[in-house]
Amino acid sequence: MTVEEGVELARFTTLGTGGPARAFARPESVGDVEELLRWAVERSLPVAAVGLGSNLLVADEGVDALVLRLAGELASVTVEGDVLHAGGGAANAVCLHRARAAGLGSFEFACAIPGTIGGGVWMNAGAYGGDFSQVLERALVATADGTGWLTPSELGLSYRHSDLRHGQVVVEAELRLHPRPPEEIRAEVRELNAQRKAAQPTNRRTFGSVFKNPDHELSAGRMLEACGLKGHRIGGAQISPKHANFIENADGARTADAIALMAEARRRAFEQFGVELRHEVEFLGELSLPPLAA
Ligand SMILES: Cc1cc2nc3c(=O)[nH]c(=O)nc-3n(C[C@H](O)[C@H](O)[C@H](O)COP(=O)(O)OP(=O)(O)OC[C@H]3O[C@@H](n4cnc5c(N)ncnc54)[C@H](O)[C@@H]3O)c2cc1C
Repeated sequence: MTVEEGVELARFTTLGTGGPARAFARPESVGDVEELLRWAVERSLPVAAVGLGSNLLVADEGVDALVLRLAGELASVTVEGDVLHAGGGAANAVCLHRARAAGLGSFEFACAIPGTIGGGVWMNAGAYGGDFSQVLERALVATADGTGWLTPSELGLSYRHSDLRHGQVVVEAELRLHPRPPEEIRAEVRELNAQRKAAQPTNRRTFGSVFKNPDHELSAGRMLEACGLKGHRIGGAQISPKHANFIENADGARTADAIALMAEARRRAFEQFGVELRHEVEFLGELSLPPLAA
């Protein structure tokens, strides 16, 4: 297995920001991942997997870890009966396409989630009332101590959350789907994509929802809009003028710009609504948000 040094992770995030990884590899089999996990243990390096970087903020200074991007067999998709078998690095779009071709529905919710199966399991990604916990039968997770199958409850899936931690790599997943005519799937996907396009900045570099929706009558987006944050800019990053729970790379943004916008948004939501917004986007590297003043 080739391990590269200093690979710039900005290439692998949808926002287009982030510094280099201390070590980077593209495993193509479960055996490769296991070998790399052992390699990292010998060097006391943490391990993190990245998918399509569509929910990821990577520190500008880089990441002192071995970063894995699954490829080859680990990005493949097959269908057997009503079960879709996907590598952890398989794109949701490819899975949806294969499911539709096989006349299997229930994964339509993922049509506008631009990530991979591994990232979807990690985040319990979802939209329009569906999420991974509803279709996931089990996931094969590799760690330095061994590889084994985990069910959704063993993974601790809840709203945009799993109990997975860096060092645990989702190498494969099985999704149980339900027979549905391909034309119906196509029509629903068309409708969901139209809804998405009307409400969100789909033609900009973003990382999806910045904050989880709080337990409040207002969604995070509506709350930040009420705080007057639409279009607010710091450095090269700006809060989307179209949807306030998105941050766009307006012009040469750095991760630090996005973090500064997030800190400002949390401060204003706390002052105006008494709500502590929690970030949905995942952090890689030394990144944190300042505590809110009581
Ligand atoms: C325009 C846009 C719209 C979006 N809409 C939605 C939406 O409607 N609903 C929603 O839930 N999300 C949405 N997102 C966010 C994002 O697409 C999802 O969270 C997606 O599941 C992330 O997958 P990824 O492969 O890109 O993961 P990444 O962003 O690369 O990683 C996310 C986390 O998963 C971990 N990870 C990734 N792969 C693996 C693996 N194989 N094993 C272990 N850990 C892994 C990473 O370490 C990281 O902690 C949107 C993003 C964009 C840019």
